[in-house]
Amino acid sequence: MKIHNFNAGPSVLPKEVVRKSAQSVINFNDTGLSLLEISHRSQDFLEIIEKTTCLVKRIMNLNDEYAILFLQGGATLQFSMVPYNLMHKKAAYLDTGFWAYNAIKEAKKLGKVKILFSGRKNNYTYISKNYHIPYDMDYFHCTSNNTIVGTQMKIFPKTSVPIVCDMSSDIFSRKLDFDQFSLIYASAQKNVSSAGMTIVILKKDILGKLKKNIPSYMDYKIHIQNNSILNTPNVFSIYNSMLTLEWIENQGGLSILEKKNQHKAKLLYDEIDQNNLFENKIHKENRSNMNVSFFLKNKNLEKKFNKMWKKENIVGLDGHRYLGGYRASIYNALSNESVQFLIEIMKEFERKFS
Ligand code: PMP
Repeated sequence: MKIHNFNAGPSVLPKEVVRKSAQSVINFNDTGLSLLEISHRSQDFLEIIEKTTCLVKRIMNLNDEYAILFLQGGATLQFSMVPYNLMHKKAAYLDTGFWAYNAIKEAKKLGKVKILFSGRKNNYTYISKNYHIPYDMDYFHCTSNNTIVGTQMKIFPKTSVPIVCDMSSDIFSRKLDFDQFSLIYASAQKNVSSAGMTIVILKKDILGKLKKNIPSYMDYKIHIQNNSILNTPNVFSIYNSMLTLEWIENQGGLSILEKKNQHKAKLLYDEIDQNNLFENKIHKENRSNMNVSFFLKNKNLEKKFNKMWKKENIVGLDGHRYLGGYRASIYNALSNESVQFLIEIMKEFERKFS
């Protein structure tokens, strides 16, 4: 029986990617060895890094001014690495969700943070467009998709200040002018790969301006010089991301995936809006196409709804522990069929309990 996987991360990956990576663990490229048994400095593995780097650049339409890194420590380490490398004195941040708030907390340890907008008091249900980025900021940090609450930035500001963006939960889900960003980071375990690897995409000319002594692992320049193998990287996750990026190209690239993602999200939001029993609390223009959060209007029905979807082989629909309710994460690899299936369950629930 098919399992409908709405997990927020680690989350659903394309079936063929999982199959091929499983095969590589048994016998990598017909070498008779497991991918987990070869050296990260071997020619075979260097080719994987090279190929994955090219795929990222091609899919995002980025030129050689950008470096692509595959690091560890999750997006959480980037909350510190970004200010370590880029903050001279002060940086501007948008506080649009729990992860953005964590990024701010780390940056405050290393310099002054100017918060240009905070949605915290409104439970992060809305992202303002009315903020001004002072020209003298070292960088401007934003989170393109707020995984926990389910909001997404649809436009990004025009500014001469370098833009740094946490794209952990919507990277490779839509077409953007990626060269408007000076630095993008994303932990892999949502749209790209298994957990344990973070992609960092950065414009090389933003580095080297600070006269700071940075611990080696925290220094982007050292990672660029070492082609992401300063130390032993997460070989499995990098290989897995190469396969997912190939899958993305085979799907037709980001414009096609964006249309599919918009379609899936619209189906689900339309159902939530018309169903008498559910509600979504996000301002319509900020609704995420990746993480759709919703709540039962009558909390007393929770046990009944939970019983119903769990019985139907739906997994990962529980809301984040901070918020409760429900969250359907509908990343690239989540099929239209799974979204339709969830909608049918919601309709049936309405018929029974409305
Ligand atoms: N930023 C965002 C937007 C996230 O969704 C997450 C993880 N859910 C993180 C940062 C933290 O990522 P990690 O657990 O890989 O450090």
